[in-house]
Amino acid sequence: MLNIGDIIKATGGSIVVKGDAEFTGISIDSRTIKDGELFIALKGDRFDGHNFTMDALKSGAGAIVSNLQFIAQDVVANNRTIILVDNTLLALHNLARYMRKKFKGHVIGVVGSNGKTTTKELISSILSIRLNVLKTSGNLNNHIGMPLSITRMNKNTHIMVLEMGTNMPGDVDELCSIALPDIGVITNIGYEHLQGFGSLHKVRDAELEIAPFVKKLVVNADDLFLMEGVVKKFKGEIITFAIDVEGADITVRDIVFSDEYTKFLLCAKSEYIDINLKIHGRFNIYNSIAAAATAYAVGFNLQEIKNGLESFEGVNMRFEIKKARGVTFLNDVYNANPSSMQEAINELVRLINSGKYRRAIAVLGDMLELGDYGVSEHKKLGQRLSVIPVDTFIGVGPLMSFAVSEFVGKGISVDTSDDAGIKLGEIIQEGDIVLIKGSRGMRMERVIAAVEDSE
Ligand code: ATP
Ligand code: MG
Repeated sequence: MLNIGDIIKATGGSIVVKGDAEFTGISIDSRTIKDGELFIALKGDRFDGHNFTMDALKSGAGAIVSNLQFIAQDVVANNRTIILVDNTLLALHNLARYMRKKFKGHVIGVVGSNGKTTTKELISSILSIRLNVLKTSGNLNNHIGMPLSITRMNKNTHIMVLEMGTNMPGDVDELCSIALPDIGVITNIGYEHLQGFGSLHKVRDAELEIAPFVKKLVVNADDLFLMEGVVKKFKGEIITFAIDVEGADITVRDIVFSDEYTKFLLCAKSEYIDINLKIHGRFNIYNSIAAAATAYAVGFNLQEIKNGLESFEGVNMRFEIKKARGVTFLNDVYNANPSSMQEAINELVRLINSGKYRRAIAVLGDMLELGDYGVSEHKKLGQRLSVIPVDTFIGVGPLMSFAVSEFVGKGISVDTSDDAGIKLGEIIQEGDIVLIKGSRGMRMERVIAAVEDSE
């Protein structure tokens, strides 16, 4: 429950109309707002929430936070409250900040170039075994989604796990100034959003903006470039996880991969336990041990960690292995950048080498937001694909056409994911394995939809 006093204190706003004094939650979407919630009218690139205040009121909004002074006809009659602020986004931030300051439990911030959502979900899966966890839902990791997630806390919340995304310097700092995490997790540093950052050093600096806020930092010790930055910039307790380097706090042994499971021994100091994951790929072992190290840092034992990791079913569109018509699809369509593309290709190679598949096909869409690196990264990808046993490569989009032109083998360049789906439908045969991946904007899920339609 939020009351009007809290809102005024948190936002510095003024009351235009005083009606209901208590609200059940906060919403920024008039389509999903529930009765009695406070509606914050945010102005985005495409929509202005102020145009939807009437809809929000019709749907039962208890109050409106707006930067326009207005009084609608039935506001008074229906006992609604209107609060005027200078900047509604700042009001949302300040409300989240205000609520966070009242919260006494741990707040875990998850940053890094790749694997944040998966790691956040894995951490939550473990912690939920005995705590009420508040997590950012889906991929809500920006300056709107993350604060909004914090406002969902209630008196039963024990711990928060928040994904924090970044496209440019300062993003993580801003999110941390709201969330005030006491434990940070950095999954890795890779080639992401280079358009906004310009270099890998700047990506590292941006992710390390979390360092001044936290007491404990959980980091990937196999990522030597990350570790170099951590050692320079972080003075608190470092908790490490690793597959390759020795001496990390959480390590693994005896990894066994298959297209059905991923098994390994999870080791923490002198203790160890066998783990059997439902998710796939070496990169998901990293996400799992990042989660294990985080849970270990807040006092969970190995058996609890095992239960949490093993019950995790994966996140939609992130390296899901699906079989249909005798074909194995590696559905990794959620997003792509050069680092995550490399990981996915490594997994494809591992599966091809198992000898179970007749032929490998890669359907890859443009990796966007790479700025000056766009063309060269795509050319490199085409060269890499040429030295692995990929039979056919379908490239989707103008950048992937550079990859196709470098590819030595059967390369097909198409404009859209729909076209790719049609092409793929024509060539797939029983026993094939198909990797499908690309940036979010390429909507590579349509490849799978088109193949299904052609059945
Ligand atoms: P975003 O920046 O889009 O929020 P994210 O960091 O939340 O991404 P996930 O959504 O968990 O990452 O995973 C996205 C894709 O990145 C996966 O489908 C997989 O291809 C790749 N990936 C996941 N984890 C890792 C990892 N630890 N290292 C490298 N690549 C990874
Ligand atoms: Mg994410």
